[in-house]
Amino acid sequence: MEILNGVHQIKTPAPERASWSTNVYLIEGGDGHILVDSGWDSQESLWALQEGIKAANLKLRDIKKVIITHIHPDHYGLSTKIKQICGAQVVMHRIDADFIFPRYKDFADLVKQTEELLRQNGAPAEELPQLKNASLWANKYVTPDSPEVMLEDGDTISNDSFEFEVLWTPGHSPGHICLYEREKKFILTGDHVLYNTVPRVSFNPQSSDNPLGDYTSSLKKLESLRVHFILPGHGPVFNALGLRIEKILQHHEERKRAIMRTLHDGLKTAYEISQQIPWMVNRGSTAFRDLGVWDRRMAVTETIAHLKLLMKEDRVGNVDMDGASLYIAKD
Ligand SMILES: [Zn+2]
Ligand SMILES: [Zn+2]
Repeated sequence: MEILNGVHQIKTPAPERASWSTNVYLIEGGDGHILVDSGWDSQESLWALQEGIKAANLKLRDIKKVIITHIHPDHYGLSTKIKQICGAQVVMHRIDADFIFPRYKDFADLVKQTEELLRQNGAPAEELPQLKNASLWANKYVTPDSPEVMLEDGDTISNDSFEFEVLWTPGHSPGHICLYEREKKFILTGDHVLYNTVPRVSFNPQSSDNPLGDYTSSLKKLESLRVHFILPGHGPVFNALGLRIEKILQHHEERKRAIMRTLHDGLKTAYEISQQIPWMVNRGSTAFRDLGVWDRRMAVTETIAHLKLLMKEDRVGNVDMDGASLYIAKD
């Protein structure tokens, strides 16, 4: 679908979750086309991409660059195969590039660190084997390789027809970027700003010390941009960026309030807090115990992200006691 002159959106399917697709963008250029994100590494996804390119009356071989907004498998997964097919350069932020091999190739350390993090934060021993391995299924839909070009905040990438400014927007992942077309007034936001979902921000062994703090700063960084269209990594294209950012910030304030309420009746681990606050799955509120294993792990690591931000704001303290990390309200 051509959503702007020379900008095509191609929806590529997720393996195992048919309802959830990744938006890949094909940007026409006199000096070669740019693909923004790649989708999962699966036959269905590659097929969808090929069909999308054909429907746009363009050619796969003319893709010269694949810019990846962030390391997650639904965005990065297929990039190596595209490179193998048409010789395109894979381009991404340096920080996420450094996490590719520890995440998708030699991941034993990462699994061990994840297990330790969950144990420390109160996950029961019998749940640990499941929780620590909850994301490994995704690895078979990724072909890891080093990118050809590493980006930094403020770099520009052009293809003769479009010029993108790289905006480093850490939070959802530490090396997440958005691509801003200043003159044509649109922005590709990856998973940083979505229209109908609040992007997940979790504390994990590959995140910074305060990923949610980074995320809210990164949201504010976009607030004043003059854009008419926001092209996200999932869901519909939209406008009114400032309004959407405000809504997401409000959501996190509400989550922090819910966490503070649980801490006002006692010391708790992040796992215990996660059990006491509501979770949204498919737009319905779900109790922690009814979540699937992946969502349960995300619930705990997202709660830790909120707690880290609350600590930065001096509203929560943290002590190790009896082998667990306990949080305490300071106000
Ligand atoms: Zn993501
Ligand atoms: Zn995504």
